[in-house]
Amino acid sequence: MSLSSPGPTLGVVGGGQLGRMMAEAAGPLGIELIVADPTPDCPAAALCRDQLVGGFDDEETFRQLAERVDYLTFEIELVDPDALERVQEETGTPVHPTPETLRIAQDKLLEKQTMEDAGVPVPAYRRVDSLDDLYDALDALGYPAMLKAREGGYDGRGNVPIESPDEVEAAYESIDGPALLEEFVDFEREVAVVGCRGVDETDTFPVTETIHEEEILRQTVSPARTSDAILERAREVASDVLDVLDGRGVFGIELFETTDGEILYNEVAPRPHNSGHWTIEGAHTSQFAQHVRAVTGLPLGNTDRRTPTVTTNILGDVAERQSATLYGYEDVLAEDRLNLHWYGKEEVYELRKMGHTTLVGDADVDATELVEAAAEATRPLTFQES
Ligand code: ADP
Repeated sequence: MSLSSPGPTLGVVGGGQLGRMMAEAAGPLGIELIVADPTPDCPAAALCRDQLVGGFDDEETFRQLAERVDYLTFEIELVDPDALERVQEETGTPVHPTPETLRIAQDKLLEKQTMEDAGVPVPAYRRVDSLDDLYDALDALGYPAMLKAREGGYDGRGNVPIESPDEVEAAYESIDGPALLEEFVDFEREVAVVGCRGVDETDTFPVTETIHEEEILRQTVSPARTSDAILERAREVASDVLDVLDGRGVFGIELFETTDGEILYNEVAPRPHNSGHWTIEGAHTSQFAQHVRAVTGLPLGNTDRRTPTVTTNILGDVAERQSATLYGYEDVLAEDRLNLHWYGKEEVYELRKMGHTTLVGDADVDATELVEAAAEATRPLTFQES
């Protein structure tokens, strides 16, 4: 293997923050990116060689992209797997992870079935195609339960908790399509593992604790504040999940630590994941560098933790969609050991992921104090003019 300039080119379908951070990581490896995204001047565009403007089901755009690059990947799950598969066959440009893996991750029912068949522990669930199915599923699983749209959900959109019988019909109508019902998991905490597969090796990053509010990820804590036995079990389950999924790349694996001390699978994203942003400062190799290495067939990097970190998402705090101006910027930059990652999105709306901060702690730091310090240090950031 050798490297000259320009080096290999990686095509990425999707040019949001994940594509942008992939481009940041690819540069030092001598790899260039071209992204395809429907929004002109998408967040990744400024750091890439080029952007093709096209939708996530626009096969012609994928074809043009495939013809200009050595490898293809995606940073969003809304991409049409059939179109990717056809383009891979026609152009010979390899797609990683495989379109088949993307197909599994896009359908929460198929995903749960695939994991269950492979022996991965999953919450009890039932398929729901009609209101009658939903009542039957609630008889079996009881209240409360979580109704989930099979496709298209993200950041908790597409999930409806059902607490009592009088909420059933409204919940069913709000989903409006094929769904599954899951038992409501009584969890102690949520944890996540980024798994990775290279040409002939797999690995997992250390377990992170993920703190959600209203089903949206707010903070991640690395290392997770849990027992060694749970940490080991979470990594074991993550390895089993990884074994089921084809193709090279990184995979964000979300898990529940139940109040009985079990690990249950929640879901997988076949791409870099918000729960792995801490790896930029906190691990020897970031999840983005790892993804670029994996997809382009380079050796994987070391996944060990370098230092404790707390990552805090910067979410839209405005009611109306508007052009984004971030206030409190210089206060945050003045904070010691607080790293700002701005995604460069031109518009902000309520709870939109606009950036994140990562606070780095000493090896012996108290994790709870670090969580509080990170929240406090990030608090000045707002999109509201004072
Ligand atoms: P999305 O695909 O939108 O990210 P998830 O299915 O991961 O949705 O759910 C988002 C969050 O909702 C989870 O991180 C968790 O906090 C909560 N959640 C999801 N499923 C369950 C469940 N079965 N029981 C309890 N909480 C759940």
